[in-house]
Amino acid sequence: MRRLSILGSTGSIGKQTLEVVRNAPEDFMVEALTCNSDADTLYSQVIEFRPKVCCVVDEKKAAELSSRLKNEGIDTEVLSGREGNITAATLDSCDTLVGAIVGFAGLEPVYHAVLSGKDIALANKETLVAGGDIIMPLIREKGVKMLPIDSEHSAIWQCLKGEKRDDLDRIMITASGGPFRGMTRDKLENVTRENALQHPTWNMGGKITIDSSTMMNKGLEIIEAHHLFGISVDNIDVVIHPQSVIHSMIKMKDGSVLAQMGRPSMILPIEVALYYPERGTAIVEEFDPFDAALSNLTFERCDTDVFRLVGLAYEAGRRGGLVPTVMNAANESAVRAFLAGRIGFLDIERTVFETVEKMDAVIGNTELTIDSVEQADTDARAYADELIDGKSCS
Ligand code: NAD
Ligand code: MG
Repeated sequence: MRRLSILGSTGSIGKQTLEVVRNAPEDFMVEALTCNSDADTLYSQVIEFRPKVCCVVDEKKAAELSSRLKNEGIDTEVLSGREGNITAATLDSCDTLVGAIVGFAGLEPVYHAVLSGKDIALANKETLVAGGDIIMPLIREKGVKMLPIDSEHSAIWQCLKGEKRDDLDRIMITASGGPFRGMTRDKLENVTRENALQHPTWNMGGKITIDSSTMMNKGLEIIEAHHLFGISVDNIDVVIHPQSVIHSMIKMKDGSVLAQMGRPSMILPIEVALYYPERGTAIVEEFDPFDAALSNLTFERCDTDVFRLVGLAYEAGRRGGLVPTVMNAANESAVRAFLAGRIGFLDIERTVFETVEKMDAVIGNTELTIDSVEQADTDARAYADELIDGKSCS
């Protein structure tokens, strides 16, 4: 039985994790549930799963939730703030943290959970992009497991089972291509928030949906794969595969290519992570090669002249240090501004490029620690926000 702290339980991955738990309550115990501000959803989750503690980062909403639960006679402890997330991540009674927070905010609780010896089932890719050089050595030092949930990384991880790491030649990360596949730069200039939120194959939270439309999601995933599998970003290729059936491939040194397939659903990668090294039972509809809609699998190159953030991510991954941290922070600020209707679509890319260029000199040879990563994130956001204020159309 796994005893779970689910951080970001009210989001897309958090809810799907609870779906896996609901399907096999005898296999899991929910010890903690946390969210940023959606106290109503958290309330229903607490009523259903009765965790020991829960946390709403927003203090006012946490206080309201606390009195609501007390009135119902439910003794789940309600925490708040960043500290509350850390307490939830490090509970003695929990053995596995599910990292389903979106963005850099997920790094701090994951860091503390590893320090306190928890296995990490990780969806929150920004944690590894910004802090992979700190988290992965700590994972090895503490002897805990890193269980990838991101579907491409779950696929690679499954393909690598039983293989010698030295026999791995290349990783081919697949991507649907997002809603703007095949578009020119001119057309991209005028796409709207609504266009960008229409993902062709996946139903996900807002930030990752926008990252998929700019292809930054693939950029972040290249760096995530570099950290998870100890492979240089130059040995990772992006393969556009619009059907999202092959979740990624690996090529071994003898030329053999291994792939993992399934319908586009995060339930399966969540199950693979939470049952490791066992297997759970099938919850979602399985891949059927005779389903006409899924049987025609196609592949294309990624156009990095159009989707320039992919090229920037390769460059950031090659340079390492705090460069990916800065890139990630600028992207988070820019995506938030785009979702708020403050900047245009290509302003996301411009903001990220300009911030990385500007911060380059400042971050220089800064030693990599959890504090210097936090500082670089804060500084890059501040600079990106200034740029956004200058571009802002509201
Ligand atoms: P989402 O926006 O649906 O949910 C985010 C969750 O994080 C919510 O519960 C929210 O309350 C919580 N949260 C946000 N900021 C927080 C903060 N400062 N402190 C504490 N909690 C906070 O996002 P999502 O789509 O579920 O994505 C979560 C993560 O998983 C992201 O890093 C994303 O890249 C990754 N991921 C998502 C999918 C998917 O299908 N949704 C697939 C692969 C990877
Ligand atoms: Mg993914």
